[in-house]
Amino acid sequence: MNIILLGPPGAGKGTQAERLVAGRGMVQLSTGDMLRAARKADTPLGHQVAAVMDSGALVSDEIVSALIDDKLGSMGDEQGAIFDGYPRTAAQAESLDELLAAHGRELQHVIELQVDEDALVERITGRFSCASCGANYHDKFKQPKQADTCDVCGNHEFKRRPDDNEATVRTRMEEYRAKTAPILPIYEARGIVSRVDGMADMDEVTAAIEAILAGKG
Ligand code: AMP
Repeated sequence: MNIILLGPPGAGKGTQAERLVAGRGMVQLSTGDMLRAARKADTPLGHQVAAVMDSGALVSDEIVSALIDDKLGSMGDEQGAIFDGYPRTAAQAESLDELLAAHGRELQHVIELQVDEDALVERITGRFSCASCGANYHDKFKQPKQADTCDVCGNHEFKRRPDDNEATVRTRMEEYRAKTAPILPIYEARGIVSRVDGMADMDEVTAAIEAILAGKG
């Protein structure tokens, strides 16, 4: 099974992808995570994309499609793929078709998480994670049970993404509206798009996605 999770930044794509990974053994292919890893490892690619990412604009189609190609090449045939934050432009959607064909895969579902933009800004600007194990938290919606201590690993250090500030978030949303939302009709024409209310409780969103994957959506 190969699926795309689509939705503006902060819609919950990453969280839902992680749940599918845990529940179904699928592999999450998040170009945002891959680019952040390149930056963290101080690679030439990381240096190349840093300024663009910090502004909230999109990095080049060639760069992200090459990352996806590599990742697909490293996966077992039996492992399902969850595309998270890719494709984000019409050119990337076209590349994905070619890459899937080249790797002998077929796309079954495109799931759009629908959300309210103003609520998203609050969601995104409040999020942070454990610097050690990566567990996710939020200033307002999900604080650690004990202040300054990670619920999962007990670590006391947390981090925030540098592009989770309001100005950058607004730019990322404009990019989504202008370049990513317009790719939906490509998949609608194939009859594989489903929509989920991304503002619902996280467990409800997961249940709705599971129903779609089980063919009951
Ligand atoms: P994300 O974690 O998916 O919100 O991505 C963070 C940033 O990485 C974005 O604001 C872009 O600068 C860059 N990025 C991630 N995925 C892509 C993509 N598919 N195409 C272009 N830029 C991307």
